[in-house]
Amino acid sequence: MRLDKFICKSTTLNKREAIAKIAAGAVYVNGVIETNEAIQVHENNSIILNGERLRARDFRYIVMHKPAGTICSNIDEFYPSLFNYLDIENVSELHIAGRLDSDTTGMVLITDDGRWSFNIMAPTTQCSKVYRVGLSRAIGDDVDAIFKNGVKLQGEKQLTRPAILNIVSNKEVLLSLTEGRFHQVKRMFAAVGNRVISLHREKIGDLSLDLDIGQWRYLTADEVQSFN
Ligand code: URA
Repeated sequence: MRLDKFICKSTTLNKREAIAKIAAGAVYVNGVIETNEAIQVHENNSIILNGERLRARDFRYIVMHKPAGTICSNIDEFYPSLFNYLDIENVSELHIAGRLDSDTTGMVLITDDGRWSFNIMAPTTQCSKVYRVGLSRAIGDDVDAIFKNGVKLQGEKQLTRPAILNIVSNKEVLLSLTEGRFHQVKRMFAAVGNRVISLHREKIGDLSLDLDIGQWRYLTADEVQSFN
């Protein structure tokens, strides 16, 4: 994060005051006076103000059961924002690690730690997301193999990564993905001539949803660690 933001996060100074301290040469980054408030720093850097090493406030890690008819955006639009359910301070600093559509329900992870959310979302980390999918038509026998091999989504060149399909009944399946393209589940079923009529994310990585609709809780340290 930017040096001025780091100072705001770790002291009671506001942005203007933090910039003034930096400009006055009162801040050392890794032993050297730093006067550029915009440089990027990380908490592993030694950042010293008035002889004291600063530590950014602890990051927050939250799991929520998203209700239908809410959006994964920081502001209300046509539907209300999911963040309305969070009665905690500085909600605007939080972001969602893997958005869901307004009509999708289920597990959403929320944080202010960008590195952590990157681990969850980047396809290269292979973090699986499991969706329970209701379909308009009976699932075809060939879909399992098609999804394993990768599907070409409309308007895209690259095939989807191998996905695992578990059949619950002829119109209900569990689909496990390790990537999160735009409307991916709906588009994968559209590519095989089916239509998603209900979509619920019930698991991310090793974490299964254990909350009622609209409820949230902080993750335990072990749960946070499981995504690193
Ligand atoms: N895939 C979709 O199509 N929608 C979601 O909300 C999540 C995954």
